[in-house]
Amino acid sequence: MKTDIEIAQEAEMLHIKDVAAQYGITEDDLELYGKYKAKLSNEFCQAAEKNESGKLVLMTAINPTPAGEGKTTTSIGLGDALTKLGKKTLLALREPSLGPCFGIKGGAAGGGYAQVVPMEDLNLHFTGDFHAITSANNLLAALLDNHIQQGNALNIDTRQIVWKRCMDMNDRALRNIVVGLGAKADGFVREDHFVITVASEIMAILCLATDMDDLKERLGRIIVAYNYNGDPVTAKDLQAVGAMAALLKDAIKPNLVQTLEHTGAFVHGGPFANIAHGCNSVKATKTALKLADIVITEAGFGADLGAEKFMDIKCRMADLKPDAVVLVATVRALKYNGGVDKANLSEENLDALKKGICNLEKHIENLQKFGVPIVVTLNSFVTDTEAEYEFIKNFCEERGCEFALSEVWAKGGEGGKALAEKVLKTLEEKESNFKPLYPDEMPLKDKIKTIATEIYGADDVTYAPAANRMLAKLTDLGFGNLPVCIAKTQYSFSDDQKKLGRPTGFNINVRDVYVNAGAGFVVVITGAIMTMPGLPKVPAANNIDIDKNGKITGLF
Ligand code: ADP
Ligand code: MG
Repeated sequence: MKTDIEIAQEAEMLHIKDVAAQYGITEDDLELYGKYKAKLSNEFCQAAEKNESGKLVLMTAINPTPAGEGKTTTSIGLGDALTKLGKKTLLALREPSLGPCFGIKGGAAGGGYAQVVPMEDLNLHFTGDFHAITSANNLLAALLDNHIQQGNALNIDTRQIVWKRCMDMNDRALRNIVVGLGAKADGFVREDHFVITVASEIMAILCLATDMDDLKERLGRIIVAYNYNGDPVTAKDLQAVGAMAALLKDAIKPNLVQTLEHTGAFVHGGPFANIAHGCNSVKATKTALKLADIVITEAGFGADLGAEKFMDIKCRMADLKPDAVVLVATVRALKYNGGVDKANLSEENLDALKKGICNLEKHIENLQKFGVPIVVTLNSFVTDTEAEYEFIKNFCEERGCEFALSEVWAKGGEGGKALAEKVLKTLEEKESNFKPLYPDEMPLKDKIKTIATEIYGADDVTYAPAANRMLAKLTDLGFGNLPVCIAKTQYSFSDDQKKLGRPTGFNINVRDVYVNAGAGFVVVITGAIMTMPGLPKVPAANNIDIDKNGKITGLF
């Protein structure tokens, strides 16, 4: 069997200007990064705003196994299938981060015959957006430390600095560090931290900003520290906004690439799906909607995290209304949720499937609360059996859900036709009555409780004393009307990654709370959440190579 990178390297790509032309984008509207990548000009994005909007389809999944369940792969295959059926379709996806690429998961450009290309570029640097975000983040950190060095006119309490440096790498040695060691001229000594770039608030801001003015407003609101009176100190107070925005001037423009079958894909932005909202940029999604009949976009992790944040954060803020949701399940993830060990997922096991399918059931019930019609799709693996398919299909149909098998990984767009037809039928026949789960005015604690009980199935929420104090403080500071972004394990509905399936009789335990005032949400930390991942014993990086002709191998 061919690897993803082998399939991708055999692809005959179109010049990106020919991909763009399919959507009425001329060469003049493009800023070319070589032959196969381009950014859309600001002027073009603005001019497109007057067009009618197409339909928006969200791709989400059940609680995953550690390998991911194929949301990106299914998005791409569905896009190609819709194109085959004559629908003008665009994808709105996230940019891969270097961390997972060199770690366990590998790249994030789809898989098998459902990929976006050039996959090497996408997975390694791409158009430099993440470097720009890293630079803007670290400029703010440098200005902050310099401010303290130069006399600290803002009275910043160095024990209450909340801004962290960032790098797009899995590097656990940088999680907790000491900076400012050395002589007087080398700065004040303090504890500091690195997060991975996708966890930087700048990433979330870039993905939620509608234009340059909005981007600057949001950058200005970033809270970097608290002063000795306990009041917030912002990026605006440090006069950092203009320079940060200048660094981001190209990063805010959506990137265009193509699938193996030449459907257009706006791959732009990639915030973490735990401490941030995990969706592609508002600008890319909105522009795509103005150019295509159907736009497919993905939200990270399972639907308890990704879809909830997509609905309650991204759609609420950007005034987007999803028309349908595709919920990806896999036989292996259902068996995993039924208690089967990671190593034994390839064997038929109907008992485990029957035990684990309650996970899918709860996700269906949850998505129904947002009022958006659902199509369940089974991302087919070669190890799946006929009996396992039948069981899942019947389960969905008994619950009035559209169901389709997806074979896009093995067959590309052709393998997604059954799913595409169900999606088209849903878009034509079923109305979306989208509504977020809770209103803006609901107090923060009630918002957290609503998500915990309604979506996670928890009995109640408990708070560490520091979290309680912070919630009160943030409400006093006027942040009570913001949506909440709950950071939780992706493996379980609960905050304990071992509680698989559809757990009941548990509480959600809130450890910490802080505000991302620029992004515009309150982050609620439950359990142990990693904002700077580490590498595994044998990192994927060990197998990546490049030959004298520039051909890359080992990326997956
Ligand atoms: P997600 O977006 O949900 O994290 P991806 O689409 O990135 O998942 O897929 C995760 C990994 O699983 C990729 O390496 C992809 O190639 C692989 N994969 C996805 N679908 C299949 C499938 N049907 N058969 C085999 N491998 C698959
Ligand atoms: Mg993905």
